[in-house]
Amino acid sequence: MSAVTTEPATTDTGLRAGAFGNAVALSCRECGHRLDLGPFYACPECFGPLEIAYEFPTVTREEIEAGPANIWRYKALLPVPADIEQSPNTEPGFTRLLKAHNLGATLGIDNLWVKDDSTNPTNSFKDRVVACALSAARELGAKVFACPSTGNLANAVAAAGARAGIKTVVFIPSNLEKPKQVNSAVYTDSLVAVDGNYDDVNKLAQEIAAEEDGWAFVNVNVRPYYAEGSKTLGYEIAEQLGWRLPDQVVIPVASGSQLTKVHKAFQELIKLGLVEDKPVKIFGAQATGCSPVSVAYKAGVDAIRPVKPDTIAKSLAIGNPADGIYVLDICRETGGAVEDITDDEVREGILLLARTEGIFTETAGGTTVGVLKKLVETGQLDTSLETVVINTGMGLKTLDAVADKVGPAATIAPNYDAFVETGLTS
Ligand SMILES: *Cc1c(COP(=O)(O)O)cnc(C)c1O
Ligand SMILES: [Zn+2]
Repeated sequence: MSAVTTEPATTDTGLRAGAFGNAVALSCRECGHRLDLGPFYACPECFGPLEIAYEFPTVTREEIEAGPANIWRYKALLPVPADIEQSPNTEPGFTRLLKAHNLGATLGIDNLWVKDDSTNPTNSFKDRVVACALSAARELGAKVFACPSTGNLANAVAAAGARAGIKTVVFIPSNLEKPKQVNSAVYTDSLVAVDGNYDDVNKLAQEIAAEEDGWAFVNVNVRPYYAEGSKTLGYEIAEQLGWRLPDQVVIPVASGSQLTKVHKAFQELIKLGLVEDKPVKIFGAQATGCSPVSVAYKAGVDAIRPVKPDTIAKSLAIGNPADGIYVLDICRETGGAVEDITDDEVREGILLLARTEGIFTETAGGTTVGVLKKLVETGQLDTSLETVVINTGMGLKTLDAVADKVGPAATIAPNYDAFVETGLTS
């Protein structure tokens, strides 16, 4: 694999046949320019982001249902080889889609589901994208598997690299929550804490990718392959609903990649005839302390003004979101919206989901659930329509966010009289 570049290699690419499955090219999202599959992420013509282009064969529900209970059941729709299951990976996906009766009743939504991605191997949706990036890194012959991260990505890269037996180096902002640091460092001895915010870490990663040979930065030079992994969230929601699309989906927004890919997944399922065509409103969720996309949405403008993040929702703290403009397009076109909430509302969102559905989410999920509530209160979400809210992470990684809000109702001596005094008897 060559150093990161916007130019395709002029010589033979050296890739094995079928290395990327049914993917046939990289295609520019802005100008449509096409180039051969390789370690490229920016269009050589216009510097627009590159996306994977496919030639899909006929794919049936039965073929998918006969596959494994992880994202590889959708391998025909991903840039991975047909023998992907032979290579050690973390096998994420096929997480629970839970009917949220209590949360729905509390918010006044008739038909609400939680797609719970906290149960992935490293407890966030990032295992999906990293599994696809690892496959690409392998096929491109990378020596090092790396990433700049807001936390969860570093966890997923470090774990997947350990399982694959490939060296990992992961970069995080030095002020990251301790549990997320430990959750990376247990898998790798090359966790690098950078004094700066995520956007600084990202810039450093781009520099290293340009200097070092054979480094696959999952969300930089193999980003087109990585990003496709998020489509599996959309595929699973449709399959788990009985091969049907929901009416509304609420999705957290950091770089915006996940939201755009869930939308893309729904469109692909329609084109492949796997679900019936119907409109799906897509809603984006941000924390007010890092809400460049929500601000642009509300101002009715197309350009995103980068911000300096200041929020407890650190996994969403990307001040200059690469896919922000596409999030705006999708949310506007589908009749959805982008909304943001305060850090206090994020904490309330965490407790609301925990106490209604028994799911402990991290600050990103608190943001998504809190925004769902706000969308109902402001009349932006139609409570009569079938709605899915995506929980992308796990509360044990951001314990401090709610540690001061919950705790023992009482501390008592070990005898019955003391218990009676608490007033907790029935
Ligand atoms: C990274 C992350 C997101 C947002 O992902 P993008 O694709 O960058 O928008 C959401 N939730 C959690 C828990 C994450 O780690
Ligand atoms: Zn272009």
